[in-house]
Amino acid sequence: MIKTEDELRREIIEIGRWIHGQGLVSGYDGNISARLDGHRILSTPTAISKGMMQPEDLVIADYEGKKITGRRNVTSELAMHLLIYKRRSDVNAVVHAHPPTATGYAAAGLPLNKALISEVVLSFGCIPLARYGTPGTPELTEALAPLVASYDAILMANHGVVTYGPDLLRAYFRMETVEHFAKISLVTEILGRQVLLSGADVDKLLAVRQRYFGSSTPAIDRTSICPVTDGGGEGAATIQPLGSRASGTDGESAGAAGAPETIAVSREDLVAMVREAVAKAIQG
Ligand SMILES: [Zn+2]
Repeated sequence: MIKTEDELRREIIEIGRWIHGQGLVSGYDGNISARLDGHRILSTPTAISKGMMQPEDLVIADYEGKKITGRRNVTSELAMHLLIYKRRSDVNAVVHAHPPTATGYAAAGLPLNKALISEVVLSFGCIPLARYGTPGTPELTEALAPLVASYDAILMANHGVVTYGPDLLRAYFRMETVEHFAKISLVTEILGRQVLLSGADVDKLLAVRQRYFGSSTPAIDRTSICPVTDGGGEGAATIQPLGSRASGTDGESAGAAGAPETIAVSREDLVAMVREAVAKAIQG
């Protein structure tokens, strides 16, 4: 069912309240847009809280980012949305936010690329990390460009997250899922261990993506950058101790440079080092 412009305006306002209410943005952060037709995009304007918008605050722009109608100004981040609309004919809505946990991963140079949760593998394959680009400049769109065709959610290094889909609701739900998955990933990091799905299990999930989400869903090739599995066959899931983190990014993505170095220390040496440090502290 094709929605009217008024319906899309109301949906954008509603989703703005949700992303603000859930703390996925602060201040004037974030932007939401929807494809109106082959010539026009309906978008949130610059410099407005996404929790306090009225339908008449939205602007209509063309595919070059030039304002057609609206009393407010177009956001400088619209270029990110336009890139996605131009490269994905199946996408009709884009949501950009700065959800704190997922953005924390992006600021740490870490993609959400591990096969930790079956539903997330099924929905996204994984969530890659685009290298940093100054917001509102071609640097940012150039960093996103190689990833847009294959993924429905992207972390942007030192910035935030962009999600998109066939309609506004699905684009928004993907943002929710990314932040939810980032929180789950963080819990496994705090617990100090991760059990990754096996390659065979991931293959089964990726194989049914089109059946679940439609033929326009991007096919994900597991031999590319993600998701990172335990590397074994069926039922071979293993525990990945903290510190052996695989970044799983390619040349287009950030992440590998920030991977922590892992060293091996025997228990005896560790006890001796702690004893020495404690003795020094007491003397000091
Ligand atoms: Zn932003």
